[in-house]
Amino acid sequence: MLRVRIDPDANRGVGVAFTDRRGGSSQGTLSELNLGRVELDRPEHLVANVAALRHELGVEGIALVHQVHGVRVLEVDQELATASGGFGDRTILDEAPDAEHPMPAADAMVSRLPGVALAIRVADCLPVMLADPAAGVIGAAHAGRAGLLGGVLPAVVARMRAAGAADILAWIGPHICGSCYEVPQAMAEEVWASHPATRATTSWGTPSLDLGAAALDQLAGLGVTAVGLDPCTRENPDLFSHRRDPGSGRLAGLVWIKG
Ligand SMILES: [Zn+2]
Repeated sequence: MLRVRIDPDANRGVGVAFTDRRGGSSQGTLSELNLGRVELDRPEHLVANVAALRHELGVEGIALVHQVHGVRVLEVDQELATASGGFGDRTILDEAPDAEHPMPAADAMVSRLPGVALAIRVADCLPVMLADPAAGVIGAAHAGRAGLLGGVLPAVVARMRAAGAADILAWIGPHICGSCYEVPQAMAEEVWASHPATRATTSWGTPSLDLGAAALDQLAGLGVTAVGLDPCTRENPDLFSHRRDPGSGRLAGLVWIKG
């Protein structure tokens, strides 16, 4: 269920985790621990998956956003928690187009709220978890190509600093690597020019983007100490990958302050 888990008791009260695809209820290409694709999966499987993950992490709730490849940062506070019914396991169904209480659209979150994990759902994009454990401020961002180039990382870091964070650490979860993320030549050249750290070539010799390297470069420039975690989603069958399988489910990166 968890590819990586940093226990809050070993990290000054802040937990960090990244899921793999094992240990859930979903079937077929979504098997097993799909945490997104509300349009494809069965509601009872999604709710069971969130419940299993919440239990595994030992948190009271999991805050989710409807990710749109933008740069909006949502503040997760007590007011939002109350309005969202405590981020219970059924919150994941609020992403359905006909949901009564639609999930807020955003690609990053900041929080000082203990016991609630911030979750970013991905299948090749970068889940970036951030924290200043001493200040009790956490953040999370969905950084795919559009979000990364659009500035979602500076946006979430600025909001964390406004909330009192000073020394910020970051963990970049499993994502598609520079040897796999093929893009058209013209796009590659445009991105390489504006973000030189992205320059890469696929293992089959075509232009590609290394978004992980670009994120590490951006975070270093923001004064954030970051680590990039392997492996590549496309190359690892235990992880969901949109490029390998467009019908795949979604993994999650999670960060939380111990309740
Ligand atoms: Zn790869």
